[in-house]
Amino acid sequence: MRSCTAPAALTLALLIPALTSTAASQKMDWPIHSMERPRPPVVAPGAGALPVPPPADAVVLLDGKSLNGWETVSKRPASWMVRPGYIEVAPGAGDIQTARGFGDVQLHVEWASPFPVAGAEGQDRGNSGVYLMGLYEVQVLDSYLNETYADGQAAAIYGQYPPLVDVSRPPGEWQSYDIVFRRPRFAPSGALLKPATMTVLHNGVLVQDHVALTGPTGHRERPPYVAHGEKLPIRLQDHGHRVRYRNIWVRELPGTP
Ligand code: MG
Repeated sequence: MRSCTAPAALTLALLIPALTSTAASQKMDWPIHSMERPRPPVVAPGAGALPVPPPADAVVLLDGKSLNGWETVSKRPASWMVRPGYIEVAPGAGDIQTARGFGDVQLHVEWASPFPVAGAEGQDRGNSGVYLMGLYEVQVLDSYLNETYADGQAAAIYGQYPPLVDVSRPPGEWQSYDIVFRRPRFAPSGALLKPATMTVLHNGVLVQDHVALTGPTGHRERPPYVAHGEKLPIRLQDHGHRVRYRNIWVRELPGTP
């Protein structure tokens, strides 16, 4: 058996409190949006070249040239801004969603928060969101040098799970989410058989490790599951900020055994 060298022991001793606080932060016994909940450690992302081209079996949802395939929640034409190579939230235009429904997916999203930030802070800075099935939000926020409650920062499962680490890039720079989502399963009676789960990589770094959602995400609430269909639209949030999106693609996954 190898013994720990002094530097290795020191490294371990330094790591253990960080790991412990991360684990504690992801426990679900924190009140929603608690400012006392530990913030995840900041980690500088790697170079991670973007955009990531879609693999051959992906469905491209957003190619940056049009809003084809997207509509408002009330199924009217989507009216966000189409810019060269990306789309941008048109504040007040409302959320947009895919005309098609999706269930279990691998989803790739590239986004950038507005720059300059013009003094905005907390939740009022680069806020948007990616909702799986229109119900389960992975938070989009400009979390670069911007404090807010841990369960509401970038890559949080909003109101439920802070990310394991904060790998935010500065505002204006393109960032990526890679999300593996398994939809909840319901019995014919409507009873929950299996909660939804999410695994998320932010800028290529694991930030949500197969977490089980408590139900749909909400502001100041953790509502219970209500039985729903197997495929529902993917939705992007208009939170009044000019967040940009491009290169969104999805791979539909076969059901879990
Ligand atoms: Mg949001």
